[in-house]
Amino acid sequence: MVSRRQFMRGDFKSRPPAPRPPWSLAEELFLAACTRCGDCVPVCPTRVIVIVRGYPEVDFKRGECTFCGACATACKAGALQNSECQIWPWAIKAQVANTCLPLRGVECRICGDRCGTNAIRFSPRLNGPPVAEIDAGACTGCGACVAPCPVSAISVA
Ligand code: SF4
Ligand code: SF4
Ligand code: SF4
Repeated sequence: MVSRRQFMRGDFKSRPPAPRPPWSLAEELFLAACTRCGDCVPVCPTRVIVIVRGYPEVDFKRGECTFCGACATACKAGALQNSECQIWPWAIKAQVANTCLPLRGVECRICGDRCGTNAIRFSPRLNGPPVAEIDAGACTGCGACVAPCPVSAISVA
């Protein structure tokens, strides 16, 4: 089913929409507040913010979010809440698709090595190498695991 947010953004494919920058207002409020100035883009030290159809999104294939808050500080329109309010910026979490290499008998723990919060666990199993599993309670949604995966099996949404 196409979500309201996907419909509003003209995205009818099954993949979840890319997240807005951290501390973004809820989608409808964000679209009303964002002036499409692009000020959040150049201040991002990891260059993960991109403009898609006029509005900013986070593209984890480019890198991770360090939660530095520079994008929120740069947004003068208030579309991104001030990071100084200490509210965690989003609820997005990493998800592993069934293209994960260990499910095909290939040993791989690259994503686990990149996760700074040890949110990716590898449970032993009898008929193949351990498979990546996300501990949603530990995952911050930083996206550091996305780009290193050799088969693009991880999404954060
Ligand atoms: S918090 Fe920092 S690293 Fe994350 S998207 Fe904003 S500017 Fe980029
Ligand atoms: S890096 Fe990709 S293929 Fe390797 S274990 Fe993680 S999700 Fe699976
Ligand atoms: S999104 Fe960040 S915290 Fe979550 S599993 Fe990936 S690297 Fe770890």
